[in-house]
Amino acid sequence: MTTVEAGRAAPPRPARSRRSPAAPVLALLWAGAAAVLALWWTGAGSVTGAAGWLTGAGRIAGLLCGYSCAVLVGLMARVPLLEVRIGSDRVARWHAMAGRYTVSLLVAHVVLILAGYSAEDGTPLVGEALAVVHLPDMLKALAGTAVLLAVGFLSARAVRRRVTHEFWYYVHLLTYAAVFLAFGHQIGLGEEFTGSPVATRLWYALYLGVAALVLWFRILTPVRLNLRHRMRVESVRQEAPDVYSVLVRGRRLDELGARSGQFFRWRFLRPGMSWTSNPYSLSAPPRPDLLRVTVKALGDHSAAVAGLRPGTRVWAEGPYGSLTADRATAHRSLLIAAGVGITPLRALFETLPGDVSLIYRARTAQDLALSAELEEIAGRRGSQVLYALNGPRGERPRIDPAWLRAAFPGIAGYDVYLCGPHGFAQELYAALRSAGVPDRRIHHESFAL
Ligand SMILES: Cc1cc2nc3c(=O)[nH]c(=O)nc-3n(C[C@H](O)[C@H](O)[C@H](O)COP(=O)(O)OP(=O)(O)OC[C@H]3O[C@@H](n4cnc5c(N)ncnc54)[C@H](O)[C@@H]3O)c2cc1C
Repeated sequence: MTTVEAGRAAPPRPARSRRSPAAPVLALLWAGAAAVLALWWTGAGSVTGAAGWLTGAGRIAGLLCGYSCAVLVGLMARVPLLEVRIGSDRVARWHAMAGRYTVSLLVAHVVLILAGYSAEDGTPLVGEALAVVHLPDMLKALAGTAVLLAVGFLSARAVRRRVTHEFWYYVHLLTYAAVFLAFGHQIGLGEEFTGSPVATRLWYALYLGVAALVLWFRILTPVRLNLRHRMRVESVRQEAPDVYSVLVRGRRLDELGARSGQFFRWRFLRPGMSWTSNPYSLSAPPRPDLLRVTVKALGDHSAAVAGLRPGTRVWAEGPYGSLTADRATAHRSLLIAAGVGITPLRALFETLPGDVSLIYRARTAQDLALSAELEEIAGRRGSQVLYALNGPRGERPRIDPAWLRAAFPGIAGYDVYLCGPHGFAQELYAALRSAGVPDRRIHHESFAL
């Protein structure tokens, strides 16, 4: 076993290859926001006095909030362009950011519109609020607002840590209901729409387009996939303490188009597990009849994987993820895994073309999963595997820029695939950048969505 000497490691931000269409998609989303402002501008007429400005600002906030709701939902529609070409983890971060904008715009909309109406009518704010609630569709909008605020509150980091993932997830699904409830008052009361059939049609097109994406990619596509491939657990095998591999058999799995480095969301249809779908990466290249995942027990769902019985029905969604061979731009690649981050890199280690080396970070030799396979692949390919284990007194191995340059001469010309816990990925990203690896050649996947 070749190991990395224990010592001190260095510290910030993983990014991904610039070849992804992230920049044009982001530009499109911002262009949409600009178009929404133009919609207000064309429908606004003249704005006069403080009351007019307050109401105008409230309308802008409301329109942008409506747009942002559509973006929020669209980003989570599991559209392959987003999930595969841009990467699920980055899209999830955009979604979280859009969520923060939505909640801020919603609060601004309510406060500014009420303040504006109250100033226009010369009535107290509370009286104005009570009057507004009686307008058509406003009770539904109020319910939608309450749900969106509750989802926003639950998503705040401090709160999210205290609730289970399932609770957070199912409350999150209520966002669909909230968006639906709020739609009527936008079309029915927004002056931009009441005065313009074209604007109304465009708004409908936006919302119906997003609804079609959700229906297609989140519902019909998975149903079709699972009816067609009929997956079942073939066997379960222990790989390391608390780490188990699950082999899943199915029909014509090659038609899924899955590639090494990608992941699926898995739902194992047995009591206690059917309600949760968790993301696990393929830990071996996909075969036409078999897929394999390797799971570390971190919570209820992942721990229950060890007890799966052969024959258990499996409901899978995917493939997702952009940590694939098409990201490679160079002939030489370095894979760096920590802990269970080894899973997608194990599959890539076998299939990436060119010269491939692997660094595998774990606390102790006992914690290494799949090491026999890694050795076998390394022997077959003539590649090297370096294990970065803690020293005898728990010292962390030294993987700093100087070490990286010495161990991999010419590292600036490598593609680097990185997968592991957030802190580790940040440290390694900084070390790689200091060692001269350009940002576009560092391909990263985070296991935290
Ligand atoms: C793209 C991706 C690929 C992954 N691949 C693997 C893999 O190959 N092997 C492996 O062991 N782990 C993998 N993980 C991590 C794995 O999904 C979580 O460890 C697992 O879902 C924990 O669920 P739990 O119910 O056991 O634990 P919990 O106690 O519920 O959660 C433990 C942690 O996992 C997070 N988590 C729980 N459920 C989900 C979910 N459905 N989606 C996202 N995060 C969740 C929680 O927020 C928490 O931070 C991957 C994660 C992602 C995002």
